[in-house]
Amino acid sequence: MSTKRVGLYPGTFDPITNGHIDIIKRGLRLVDRLVIGVATNPSKNPLFTLEERVAMVEEATRPMAEAAGVEFEVVQFDELLMHFAERVGATIIIRGLRAVADFEYEFQMTGMNYQINPSIETVFLMADPKYQTIASRLVKEVARYGGKISAFVPGDVAKAVVARVAELPSPSES
Ligand code: ADP
Repeated sequence: MSTKRVGLYPGTFDPITNGHIDIIKRGLRLVDRLVIGVATNPSKNPLFTLEERVAMVEEATRPMAEAAGVEFEVVQFDELLMHFAERVGATIIIRGLRAVADFEYEFQMTGMNYQINPSIETVFLMADPKYQTIASRLVKEVARYGGKISAFVPGDVAKAVVARVAELPSPSES
């Protein structure tokens, strides 16, 4: 049996934030190979297309993975998480945990995933406190109302978010 540790960090990444990046940095210390799974997630009505989200994740994180000497891949997926995890040969699933807000959902999902495949362990990582309150949803909301988002996302991502929300009808019209 291979002893290679393969981590899968799944998410919507709409867009990738400094919180996600901090979790990826920590995840890179735990595995030999890290796959970032970018979910289609149409139910979340993403601001960015799947291809755009994959490209933003790539750009924001590949140098970090290379510096860490960890095999790295950013892959889109549109299937049951556990099927995707099996397909990429994941031994652990990495999720980030923010204060209490994420707990209930993550608790249920982990329990169900464990029943689907008990050989894949889910591990939870916490971001540095200065990144813990960042959420993609709030980044988009702040940008939509003209607020500054440069503390929450990388520079190129901030530019892309500002440009994309400018194409939307103004919040008072929608
Ligand atoms: P999903 O739709 O799967 O929740 P997200 O892109 O919103 O996708 O989040 C992916 C993962 O990253 C989740 O485990 C989420 O809890 C975690 N995460 C997001 N933002 C942060 C943050 N600021 N600190 C720690 N974990 C985070």
